[in-house]
Amino acid sequence: MADSVHLHRRGVLFILSSPSGAGKTTISKKMLAADPDIAPSISATTRPMRPGERDGVDYHFVDVETFKQMAADGEFLEWAHVFGHRYGTPRGPVEDLLAAGKDVLFDIDWQGAQQLYQEAGPDVVRVFILPPTMAELERRLRSRGTDSDEVIAARMARAANEISHWDGYDYVLINDDVEGCFDEVKAILRAERLKRRRQIGLIGFARDLIRSVPEADKK
Ligand code: 5GP
Repeated sequence: MADSVHLHRRGVLFILSSPSGAGKTTISKKMLAADPDIAPSISATTRPMRPGERDGVDYHFVDVETFKQMAADGEFLEWAHVFGHRYGTPRGPVEDLLAAGKDVLFDIDWQGAQQLYQEAGPDVVRVFILPPTMAELERRLRSRGTDSDEVIAARMARAANEISHWDGYDYVLINDDVEGCFDEVKAILRAERLKRRRQIGLIGFARDLIRSVPEADKK
C-alpha cells in the first residue's frame, strides 16, 4: 500500500508461546529488531534474574509482595504461576502502545494466552512454536548452561504440559530452522495486519473510493 493511503488500523496483540528452549525468545528478538511497528510487552516476574538479563528490559523483576499488590490493584492484564514463580503482563504499557498505533508482542505461556484472549478476543493472535523433537529441546536447554539438572528436568516436564495446550492457539509452527520459523512468524503478522476488521481506517477510505465514481451512489 502506498504511503499516501497508509491508514489507521487496530493494533494486534501478538502472542508467541512455546516451551522454554523452543526458540521463542530468539524469534521475538528478531521480530522486534526487524519491525518498528511492534513493541514488546515487558512482563513482571518474581523469579530471580538470570545472568545477562536486565531489569526493565527482559522483565520487571519484583518481589512477591510487590507482585501481589500489583495484582490486587488490577495492574495486570493477565498473570500466572509458572515454574513456581509469578509472571504477569502490566496493563498500562500495553494500552499505551496500542494507543500509539503499535502492535504488541507477548512472550507468555498458555495460561496468559488464554486470559489475554478472554480480555481482548479478536485483537489477539496466538502463535505456538513447537520444538522439532523433545531430545532437541533438552539439548537446547542444556546448551544455555544457565540451569541445573533439576531445573532442566522440571522444564522438560513443564514443556510436555505446555505442548499439551497447543490446540488453544491460532497458529502452530515447528522450529527446526530459526530463519524459516522467523519467516513464518513474519508472514502471520503481515496477514493479520491486513485483516479487514483491523483496517478501521479503510471504512471511510473504501466509502470515498466508491463515492468518487459518480454513478456508484445511484445504484
Ligand atoms: P522464563 O522464566 O524462562 O523467562 O519464562 C518462563 C515462562 O513464563 C515462559 O513460558 C514465558 O513465556 C512465561 N511468561 C513470561 N512472562 C509471562 C507473563 O507475563 N505471563 C504469563 N502468563 N507467562 C509469562
